[in-house]
Amino acid sequence: MKYTNTYKKVELIISEDLLKRLSSYGIEQFSNEFGGFLMGYYSNNFKTLTITDTVLPKVYQGTPYLFQRSIKGIGGTFEVYYKKQPNQYYIGEWHTHPNGSTAYSHTDKQAMVNITQCATVNITNPILLIISINASEINGFQFYLYDNNELFPFVEST
Ligand SMILES: [Zn+2]
Repeated sequence: MKYTNTYKKVELIISEDLLKRLSSYGIEQFSNEFGGFLMGYYSNNFKTLTITDTVLPKVYQGTPYLFQRSIKGIGGTFEVYYKKQPNQYYIGEWHTHPNGSTAYSHTDKQAMVNITQCATVNITNPILLIISINASEINGFQFYLYDNNELFPFVEST
């Protein structure tokens, strides 16, 4: 599946299988929010971003209206991941909105600001994926690209 961000002229590719996998992790935790780290890689010209995988947080707090993941204990997991798959790296975040919309909250946006200000994460345009789910299936999803205090939605490529 392909999506385009007209603001940054970036194309995003994700497999339906991966999206289903993320949704099923979220449905398992329904009616609390759940999420994790998105892994992937950019093409050489930085015009295409392929999302390949997720890493789930070890420490997190999920309520029906909030998801906060910690990077506690995750350093080792990332190290192992990077050794196995040196061409893939952390590119953003995903979380669910149980019975909610795919719009981002103020807290969601602030979390993205914090990521770009984090000294250990060298990333200026992280991706945010919000998946709306109910108790048994996915309602919808939306990808955003963060840049300089704003979140820009992706649209389906034609
Ligand atoms: Zn949210």
